[in-house]
Amino acid sequence: MQFKNGRFTVSGVDLLNLTEEYGAPLYVYDANKMKQQYERIHRAFSGVKRLRINYACKALTNLNVLRLFRQLGSGLDTVSMQEVELGLMAGFDPHDILFTPNCVSLEEVNEAVTKGVRINIDNISILEQFGDQHRGVPVCIRLNPHIMAGGNSKISVGHIDSKFGISIHQVPHVLKVVNALDLKVEGLHMHTGSDILDAQVFLQAVEILLRAAGDFPDLDYLDFGSGFKVPYKEGGIATDIEDLGQQLSERFNEFCAGYGRELELMFEPGKFLVSEAGTFLVRTNVVKTTPATVFAGVDSGLNHFIRPMFYDAYHHITNISNPQGKPRIYTVVGYICETDTFGINRQLGEVREGDILAMANAGAYCFMMASNYNSRYRPAEVMILDGKVHLIRRRETMQDLLGTQVEVPELVEPVQA
Ligand SMILES: *Cc1c(COP(=O)(O)O)cnc(C)c1O
Repeated sequence: MQFKNGRFTVSGVDLLNLTEEYGAPLYVYDANKMKQQYERIHRAFSGVKRLRINYACKALTNLNVLRLFRQLGSGLDTVSMQEVELGLMAGFDPHDILFTPNCVSLEEVNEAVTKGVRINIDNISILEQFGDQHRGVPVCIRLNPHIMAGGNSKISVGHIDSKFGISIHQVPHVLKVVNALDLKVEGLHMHTGSDILDAQVFLQAVEILLRAAGDFPDLDYLDFGSGFKVPYKEGGIATDIEDLGQQLSERFNEFCAGYGRELELMFEPGKFLVSEAGTFLVRTNVVKTTPATVFAGVDSGLNHFIRPMFYDAYHHITNISNPQGKPRIYTVVGYICETDTFGINRQLGEVREGDILAMANAGAYCFMMASNYNSRYRPAEVMILDGKVHLIRRRETMQDLLGTQVEVPELVEPVQA
């Protein structure tokens, strides 16, 4: 989002015009920003010969976003069969899709095998059954290095109590299974969780994975997951991707030289690629002064944008209708009938009823976590590609809400005229 001549724009498109045309609330995505982030990570790791970025699509699975990443040359990291299917629909080659589920049934893993996608297995029980049924099918193993690199405890997945991955301490057991079933382990994977605060801690986890990799002779790739942090406020901490790129590339190349083969280095960023590209626009319904607070109540809520309530996430809020207005302090709340706060004590240009507020970093895990709670419709999404606006999801209607409901005839009474 840029501010110029009193207007807020994305790639030259005026955001206020968008709410006039498509209504509010509205998700707006800047395709060029996604592209820039993809290219940035590529540049950061340009020191390795084989690099693959698999977009972790659970962050935002709109088909147009998937197609954009496919055109950029990205692969896809998926966590459900539905994501696999969306990826195939978007034109990804099955070989460019990695299936990294957690606690799914063997049936779901088998289904992924029939689709021809790469399989990442994160527990020994499934590994045994998989190996038994699919002799010769190459597999990736998700290891848990037990390094606490993530931010919020809900998104840090590498620690000792985590349900993710096979403990690094169980590698001897894994090797027994691999040898007994003659499994071809083509990849090792780790994902320490979102919001890496300290690159050094991440590199420690890398060391642990590299040590384990020496025990697997058939490797073709090493997947170091993601968790790259993007800034959520001005001057906010972010993963220094260029610095990490330099240090890790050097270490990776050194490892490959020792291993005797040029392995592919993989990452699977979600947030890094799409978070900053998204802006969520809401309209102020009421400004309500209570003895303690001035509330700006908007036409959305945790049903559309749950990260502030769920993760205590900070999302920067701007009054784009009155940017030059006198700065005042507001608590921005939604219309859901329970505590539903977007931001507490934020300084905004004076908010008037009808003003449009913009929430930043709304590309990752925002629309995807939207629900129909309070029986509200989920918002529309638009994408700006090279300065052109495209509606990529229409707002829902009552028909969408009723689409899956099945009526019991005995309960249907004739409506009184
Ligand atoms: C969610 C997830 C990611 C993406 O994490 P970000 O913090 O959005 O980059 C990557 N890999 C796996 C296995 C995931 O579950």
